Amino acid sequence: MYEVTKNFIHKVKTPAYVVDEGLLIKNLEILKSVREKTGAKILLAQKAFSMYSVYPLISQYLDGTTASGLYEARLGFEEMGNREVHVYSPAYRESDMAKLVKICDHIVFNTPKQWRKYKDKVLQSERKISCGIRINPGYAEVETDLYNPCIPGSRLGTPLESLKSEDLDGIEGLHFHTMCEQDADVLWRTIQVVDEKFGPYLHNMKWINFGGGHHITREGYQMDYLEKSIQLFQEKYGLTVYLEPGEAIALNAGFLLSEVLEIMENGKKIAILDSSAACHMPDVLEMPYYPVILQDNKICPHVEEGEELVYRLGGPTCLAGDVIGDYRFNHKLEEGQRLAFCDMAIYSMVKNNTFNGMPLPAIYLHTKEGELKMIREFHYKDFKERLS
Ligand SMILES: *Cc1c(COP(=O)(O)O)cnc(C)c1O
Repeated sequence: MYEVTKNFIHKVKTPAYVVDEGLLIKNLEILKSVREKTGAKILLAQKAFSMYSVYPLISQYLDGTTASGLYEARLGFEEMGNREVHVYSPAYRESDMAKLVKICDHIVFNTPKQWRKYKDKVLQSERKISCGIRINPGYAEVETDLYNPCIPGSRLGTPLESLKSEDLDGIEGLHFHTMCEQDADVLWRTIQVVDEKFGPYLHNMKWINFGGGHHITREGYQMDYLEKSIQLFQEKYGLTVYLEPGEAIALNAGFLLSEVLEIMENGKKIAILDSSAACHMPDVLEMPYYPVILQDNKICPHVEEGEELVYRLGGPTCLAGDVIGDYRFNHKLEEGQRLAFCDMAIYSMVKNNTFNGMPLPAIYLHTKEGELKMIREFHYKDFKERLS
């Protein structure tokens, strides 16, 4: 996987995201095989990855897209060919719903109250729309509260206590999303809870959506548990099962390339890069986590203690905490040297920002034929146009 960076690390303008088509296809092949083997449908959750120049490729492998609101739904509708368009939002605005009913195949409502509010609009639409309710099974194994939809007081989904059978009139599916970067044993335990609590409602449904957070394309993923989970709902209730992973689609398929601007010392060696954690890889600070870094194709480990060749990597912004972490390098860092941050296709482009007037990284595709294609670059204009 790391080998590919040597083909483009010196060719791009930094900072830049490079998505490797070969690595993306590797993931898509795995997902397609799950579809073929189980009959489940798999959607791209665009919130993680919306680089629509590769949607024509993705559409050959998956069933469609899912969206968090109108803009993503439109993007999926416009760019993913004639595939399914799904949407879920904690609350819809009326003006958006008027447009969603023209482009969506599935609309998932957060509460029965939202469903009642929009039921007529959906039924009056010329498009055939299948509606669902997001349930909150009250069971998640996510340790970071920021990513746990089942914490007390969560606004995401309807708990069993708040659901009555009359609420489900016209509803064809249930949706849950309770996982984050997890393996299928977690899914297996989760669906036992869903089955036990919500089983009585499932007999009248057509589909169930297992949400995202399935790390299906990670090495060692327990495919057998995933298959068992899908089969359980197919066989017991005759449901079509949907999965809507985001991460898994472009996991480890992209890089953020960065250049060392300056080396300085303040009790430790510090390298200032032309990419910023706060602007270009915000999950590094939010999660937080330490991305894998490559120097000359070799992994440089994150370390707790400063030693020989340990540098603290920081962004060029004025935010004190714009620090990626302390890493041990194979050789001394030099100004002008390039580093590759791994697994930067997901939750990066979709989240970046121009805080401090930071430029947005250019977007490239490294094709499976080995060609480097510039997809988009950004300029001063992109920064300015959002601000007045
Ligand atoms: C975030 C999210 C996804 C995708 O999650 P990943 O962790 O990227 O797989 C899918 N469905 C819903 C409702 C989400 O909120």
